[in-house]
Amino acid sequence: MRVGNDPASEIYVRNKAKKAQELGLRGTELIFDAPMSEAALLAEVARLNEDDGVDGILVQLPLPKQIDARKVIDAIDPRKDVDGFHPINVGLLHLGRPTLAPCTPAGVIRLLDAAGIAIEGARAVVVGRSDIVGKPVAALLLQRHATVTICHSRTRDLAAVTREADILIAAIGKPLFVTAEMVKPGAAVIDVGVNRVDASFAGRLAHDEAKSRALAKNGHATVGDVDFARVRDVAGWITPVPGGVGPMTIAMLMKNTVAAAERRRA
Ligand code: NAP
Repeated sequence: MRVGNDPASEIYVRNKAKKAQELGLRGTELIFDAPMSEAALLAEVARLNEDDGVDGILVQLPLPKQIDARKVIDAIDPRKDVDGFHPINVGLLHLGRPTLAPCTPAGVIRLLDAAGIAIEGARAVVVGRSDIVGKPVAALLLQRHATVTICHSRTRDLAAVTREADILIAAIGKPLFVTAEMVKPGAAVIDVGVNRVDASFAGRLAHDEAKSRALAKNGHATVGDVDFARVRDVAGWITPVPGGVGPMTIAMLMKNTVAAAERRRA
C-alpha cells in the first residue's frame, strides 16, 4: 500500500509488486491519495487482515503527516507483517525466536552468507540505530554470534570503532560518509545507504569515474553511505550502491511473503 506520491516510494512499491508478479505471486499495488485519513487507511488494513487470499501486507513508509505510521503498523496482522515491523515480530526478533525479520537486515545477512563471510565470532560494527535497519541488523548479527557494536550520531571517535570491524554495516543516510580511513583492511563492508546527490557533489565524486560520469550525464547520481571508489581498495568485500543491498531487500520481502503464507496456512 502506498499513500501519496513520494517518488522514491513509487519506485520501491512498483519494483516490489513487479517482482512478486514475476515470481508468480499475486502482487497488488494499492495507491491512495495523499489526503487519505488515518481511519481510512486503518480500514484498508483491517480489510486485508480479514482477506484470506492475502498473505502479506506492506505499507510503504513514510506516510503523510496526518497518519500515525505506528498505529498503522500496529494494526497489521503480525502473521501478514512481511516487513517485520510489527512490535510482536520485533520482540520475537530480539528474543532470537522465529519471526518475519525486516527485509533489509535479513538481506544483509543473506549477502554475508552468500559471500562466505564468517559471522560467528566476528567483530561487527553497525553505524545507525534506526528501527528499520540498524537495530534489527544488529539483532540478527548477535543471533549469529557476532560481537556487535551499534554506533550513532553521539558515538565518540567513530572512526576508531569502525576500524575495529571485521564486518562494517553503514546505515546512516549520509552520502560517502564512510571513508577508507574508517575501514580495517580486509573488512566486509555492507553499504545500506541510498542517497541521491546532485551536481554540488561533483568535487567530492571526482575520484569516482563511474559516478562522475553518471552525474555529468544525468545531473544526479545515486551513492551509498560509503565512499565506494576508495573503500574498495581497503575492504576485502564491499557492496555497491545501487545493486547491493537494495535488490536483497526485495528478495527477502518475497521470502517473507512465502514464509507468511506457509505458516498461516499450515
Ligand atoms: P535513519 O532512520 O535516518 O537513521 C540514520 C542513523 O544514522 C541514525 O541512527 C543516526 O544516529 C545515524 N547517524 C546519522 N548521522 C550520523 C553520524 N554523523 N555519525 C554516526 N551515526 C550517524 O535512516 P535509516 O532508515 O536507517 O536508513 C539509512 C540509510 O539506508 C538511508 O540512506 C536509507 O535510504 C537507506 N535504506 C536503504 C534500504 C535498502 O533497501 N537499500 C532500506 C532502508 C533504508 P541517531 O540515532 O543518533 O540520530
